[in-house]
Amino acid sequence: MSEERPMLELSGVVRVFEQAGTRLEVLRGASLAVRPGELVGLVGPSGAGKSTLLHIAGLLERPDEGTVRIGGIDASKLDDAKRTEIRRGAIGFVYQFHHLLPEFSAQENIVLPQMIAGLSKREATERARQLLAMVGLEGRASHRPARLSGGEQQRVAIARALANAPGLLIADEPTGNLDPHTAEGVFAMLTKLVRGARVGALIATHNLELAQRMDRVLEMRDGVLVEHA
Ligand code: ADP
Ligand code: MG
Repeated sequence: MSEERPMLELSGVVRVFEQAGTRLEVLRGASLAVRPGELVGLVGPSGAGKSTLLHIAGLLERPDEGTVRIGGIDASKLDDAKRTEIRRGAIGFVYQFHHLLPEFSAQENIVLPQMIAGLSKREATERARQLLAMVGLEGRASHRPARLSGGEQQRVAIARALANAPGLLIADEPTGNLDPHTAEGVFAMLTKLVRGARVGALIATHNLELAQRMDRVLEMRDGVLVEHA
């Protein structure tokens, strides 16, 4: 397994925010690799830079220094259009708050990214139905997000993130907004789907107990990543 090319590779990532004359060095040379099918946890106190790192890894933002490789491709050398194409096709992102489109049904929220990627409505709908069944929500297909519980919203968000069969899933505290029992169920579902599809995953969580169930845990400390004991 360690011979396989990483799905995600960060090397020497630096990110500095300048605000009102102060320099905040959030990332100071963060490096990591996530291999196909590997689940990597990301922990660290609030404000440590986890979200900043995940946004850079997910090609939502660019680092000030360092490289981001997705499936071996150096994304720092690409223009925005090409980065967007990779982000849409190769990366699924799950946020703490579902970020589903409120005007669309659960099923439509899973259909849309596939149609943007070029699938026909029929194919996208078929896959959306399969994904909804996989997350146990076949009975909620026509519900809008506001009519779903928090746990259901996150399960739809997970299904949406997997819609284009990405090689990499990035999740930013995906159960941080849920009660412990619901969080447990959503987390178990997320890890099962990720392992089943051999997706590489980088998952930030505050919950050390959940983090310990991943293959490896990295800790953000003073802007760099260290293996969590
Ligand atoms: P975490 O996800 O670990 O809680 P974040 O990555 O959200 O941490 O934030 C790390 C630090 O960077 C925080 O101090 C935050 O206020 C700061 N920060 C994040 N984004 C910006 C931004 N766009 N501009 C200025 N400061 C930011
Ligand atoms: Mg965060």
